[in-house]
Amino acid sequence: MEQVSLSCKKVSFATEKDAEFYIKKLKATSKRDVVPMRSYLCEVCFRWHLTHLQAIDVLAFQKEHEKMKEKIVGFEKRVSELVFKCEDRGQTIKMLNDAIREFRMPKQRRK
Ligand SMILES: [Zn+2]
Repeated sequence: MEQVSLSCKKVSFATEKDAEFYIKKLKATSKRDVVPMRSYLCEVCFRWHLTHLQAIDVLAFQKEHEKMKEKIVGFEKRVSELVFKCEDRGQTIKMLNDAIREFRMPKQRRK
């Protein structure tokens, strides 16, 4: 009945009924603190996995995940802006150094 999916490496079930039956069995017999609460259809292997997260927790988790993704995109944008500014500054400093060198040793006086 239960089977480890090759793609997901998680215990999986062919049907929701099998998964729910297994959860019931675990809830009745398992001595672990965390037992699976519900089953869900996996988008990767299209089999049923177990999770200890409540449906609402999954939604909250997904929301949090989206928020984090947005934050990361924001950070990446900021970093690329800063890198651009640094490159710009580097260019400015080089131009200033060239100008100072030119001021100190004008080309016509250089050998
Ligand atoms: Zn899966």
